[in-house]
Amino acid sequence: MDVRKIVLIVCDGMSDRAVKSLGGRTPLEYAETPNLDKLAEIGCTGVLDILNPGVPPGSDSAHLALFGYDPERYYPGRGAIEALGANIPVSEGSLACRFNLSTVAEKNISGGVSLIVKDRRAGRVSSEEAEKLIKSLQIELNNFNNVKVKVIPNVEHRGILVVEGDGLSGDITDSDPHEVESCVNRCEPLSNAHDFKAAEYTAEIINEIVKTSYRILKNHEINKLRVEKGLPAANIILPRGAGIVRRVEPFTKVWGLKAACIAKLALYRGVARYIGMDVYDVPEATGTVNTNVEAKFRKAVELLKEYDFVFVHIKGADSASHDKKPLEKVKMIERIDSAFKIIMENVVYEGDAVVAVTSDHSTSSELGIHIGDPPALAVYAPDIVSDNVKHFNERAVLNGGLGRVKAVDLMRILLNYACRSLEYGLKPSRESRIYRSTECSPLVI
Ligand code: ZN
Ligand code: ZN
Repeated sequence: MDVRKIVLIVCDGMSDRAVKSLGGRTPLEYAETPNLDKLAEIGCTGVLDILNPGVPPGSDSAHLALFGYDPERYYPGRGAIEALGANIPVSEGSLACRFNLSTVAEKNISGGVSLIVKDRRAGRVSSEEAEKLIKSLQIELNNFNNVKVKVIPNVEHRGILVVEGDGLSGDITDSDPHEVESCVNRCEPLSNAHDFKAAEYTAEIINEIVKTSYRILKNHEINKLRVEKGLPAANIILPRGAGIVRRVEPFTKVWGLKAACIAKLALYRGVARYIGMDVYDVPEATGTVNTNVEAKFRKAVELLKEYDFVFVHIKGADSASHDKKPLEKVKMIERIDSAFKIIMENVVYEGDAVVAVTSDHSTSSELGIHIGDPPALAVYAPDIVSDNVKHFNERAVLNGGLGRVKAVDLMRILLNYACRSLEYGLKPSRESRIYRSTECSPLVI
């Protein structure tokens, strides 16, 4: 029996709700999408609960679920994913957080002086200035044993904080209050921390780092000049999204598929690296609404020769939703659809592969936020029993043959249509009880 290859296309935040300005239709309903509609017509459709029903996912946890890794067990925290995405070498067991260079002002309170956030992005300080400021943060924590702190600039006001040492925990709160005019939070252990003592210890370290960053940055030459020019001083780092970097079983081993990822943005590349996918980029892609979707799909067709599983990530629809621009989202969806012709012509009509299209979550283009509504899903395989759904949108796929599926089960569904699933109970290989493997360990006689 020949096994099939799999293409998974994730259009970030493409699914939505009924939008008033679009006459009560969703952007996906409003858009002209002949190619995606064709896939829905000849394939089978449904909706995907990315996490538990109704829970709005972040893009990172959502992608883990789509790749069959239950986020409850395998989500390492946004900081760890971002560090991997930015290709920062982080050893196992280290703590990684994202941070912003921000502007704070002192305020007297009954117990002393607190810090009030005036600008979370320090007036969008330039990458050049940010790099100099962040590099001045040589933080040594003498009160903690064998703890090493690395503060690494990323793009503009963003950076990654890495803490190396023993007994660290990612179960801590953000220092960043996420709101201006709020006070800088004291980092605290989460009440449900797996290891409360480790979380308490880690929180103390983070508080010390934040305080030290303020002491160093408030007097920095660059900030003195910024204040003179009337610009907000980038005078503190505010960590958030703490996570412990650890290794997980690679995708290839879990599912028996050699896998490639095509994505521009660090977060998605980080998730792919975390589970050991080979990560590709196309120079023409920008990760914005103006990205070159055709180039990504052409790359997918090319990589399919070498890989069993190709994942393509397309961001634009989510960005338009966050900007609360439903019509821009419609345009982006139409651009995705028109480029999708490349997949229809080269993979669906020509080859013998399984093709799935979905979103990592729904994003409301009226509210500008991720929502817990299950996104639309279409799956095609040459011999799939198609349902009666002829359009790819949230409403039409409610009548789909796949029904309502959990995202962590998607890989099993795709493996089944790729003729790679193993009958339950068979044990031909030590490695896998899930997928058919061509590798065998020979009995020597
Ligand atoms: Zn997303
Ligand atoms: Zn988003």
